[in-house]
Amino acid sequence: MELGLKDKVAIVTGSGRGIGAVTARALAEEGVRVTITDIDPATTEATRAALAADGFDVIGVPCDVTDKDQVANLVAKTVEAFGTVHILVNNAGFPRDGYIGKMSDEDWDLVVDVILKGAFNCSRAVVPHFMEQKYGRVVNIASRAHFGNPGQVNYSAAKAGILGFTRALGMEQGRFNVTVNAVAPGFIATEMIEALPNYETVKNKSLALNTVPRLGNERDIANGVVFLASDAAGYISGETLHITGGRFG
Ligand code: NDP
Repeated sequence: MELGLKDKVAIVTGSGRGIGAVTARALAEEGVRVTITDIDPATTEATRAALAADGFDVIGVPCDVTDKDQVANLVAKTVEAFGTVHILVNNAGFPRDGYIGKMSDEDWDLVVDVILKGAFNCSRAVVPHFMEQKYGRVVNIASRAHFGNPGQVNYSAAKAGILGFTRALGMEQGRFNVTVNAVAPGFIATEMIEALPNYETVKNKSLALNTVPRLGNERDIANGVVFLASDAAGYISGETLHITGGRFG
């Protein structure tokens, strides 16, 4: 299949580690020039250096996606280095779990802000480039949690919200040859997930409920993102690709 990704330019948020870092590598392997960006300057630089050492054309720009000035700088640095931007992967996100009676205002705001405000800030900043060049791809990393998970009212609400954001932005941008899609991962054993206090329980539940009898990994998600970011997916927009090993509930 011709993906048409060679020499395209991508920004992958939260790509210092986890799914974002592997997605950045998978895009680079297809010839995409990638901006590695994470709230943590150290992981931003470590991932940038690892990809550069393997010969990929990458830059690193630390950025907190909830801060619109930092996002403006991220896009400006990308355009300065590569001339434009074609692909945005809104990946930065994390859970802060707790049943509603014990959930703090801070944990609600943190999760909703990084997932929704972050995607809004980054999308708004790249859209002028997409409209001008009549080409763009946005891939939002949602979660199976958009169906709802107990102990995750904040995360489930934000991940369901990102699906509405995906469809609405796709409707706005379609006439500029811009597609907007979401990938909804199931359980992927990244550092973030391994740090959960109930890690063993959620891992075993995933193994029991997946129809594909194994745990998912970062590459499983990256493969879906690469496809949706490609020319080959040019007639797909507003869609949610579940990469959950067949698990929906
Ligand atoms: P990781 O925690 O491994 O990676 C997320 C990265 O985002 C981290 O490097 C983190 O930095 C960074 N980040 C956090 N806040 C911000 C911010 N405000 N601005 C920029 N970067 C930020 O998580 P995963 O790779 O597991 O998750 C990636 C995405 O996939 C998330 O949106 C998550 O919700 C989603 N997802 C993951 C699943 C899984 O099972 N792993 C399942 C379903 C969805 P730092 O290290 O400093 O915190």
